[in-house]
Amino acid sequence: MEPLLPRNPGRGGRWADHRRTINRVLWRTRTTREPSTSRPSRSGSATRFGDQEHNLNRMSVCPGCRLELPDERRTSNETRYNASPECLRLSGEVAAFNHAHPARLAIWHQTCVDAYGAQHVSAGTKPIAVAFALNGLYLVFERGFTGLQARNAHGYLANTVPSWPRFTPPDNVGKVTVFDVTMASSVGEHIDLVQTWGRSVWAAWSHVHNEIATMTDAQLGSWHPHS
Ligand SMILES: [Zn+2]
Repeated sequence: MEPLLPRNPGRGGRWADHRRTINRVLWRTRTTREPSTSRPSRSGSATRFGDQEHNLNRMSVCPGCRLELPDERRTSNETRYNASPECLRLSGEVAAFNHAHPARLAIWHQTCVDAYGAQHVSAGTKPIAVAFALNGLYLVFERGFTGLQARNAHGYLANTVPSWPRFTPPDNVGKVTVFDVTMASSVGEHIDLVQTWGRSVWAAWSHVHNEIATMTDAQLGSWHPHS
C-alpha cells in the first residue's frame, strides 16, 4: 500500500522544499486576481481568472482528484492510481516530506496514502486497496486512530479478511487535494493540512460511511492497535 516512497528521505526533503517554493510561485502567479483563495483552479474553472494569459500555459488535469497543474509533459507507468503524472509527483513530494520528518510525521503518512488512494481509484485498482483507503480514513477520523495505528490495522486485516467488496467512488472526491498539503510552510501546518485533506476525502465518500463502519468494526472485533 506504500506509493512512491523515495529511498533517500534527506534528499527527498530538500527536493520537496524546493518544489514547494516552485509551486508557491506558480500558484501566486496564477492567483493574483484571487488572493484570498487557497486552492488551485480545477477542471472547468480555468477561465475563472478572467483573462486569456492564464490559459496560454498548457495544463494537465488529474483524472482522479481533478487537480489542475502545469503540464510537465511527464509520462508515468503507474497503474494503481487514476492520477496525472504531475499529481503523482506531488504525492511523492508529500511522502518525501513525511519521511524527512519521521518524529512527527510517521504517524500521519498512512493517512496521506489513504486520502490519496481514495481520490484516485481506477478501474484497475484492487478492491482491497480501495477498502483499505476507506477504512484507514474511517479509523482515523471516526475512531480516533493515528495513521500509524490504521496501518497496523491494515496489517491485521490483510491476514484475516479473505475478500473485499468493491466500492464505487463518488462523482466528486472532495475539494482538498494533495496540492493543498504541499502548500504547508511548516511541519505543524503540514499535519493540519493532512487532517483537513483526510476529513474532506472521507466526507466525499459519505455514501459508504455506514457500510465501511459496520464492516470495519466487525472485521476488527476486539483487536486494538499497539500504542
Ligand atoms: Zn490527483
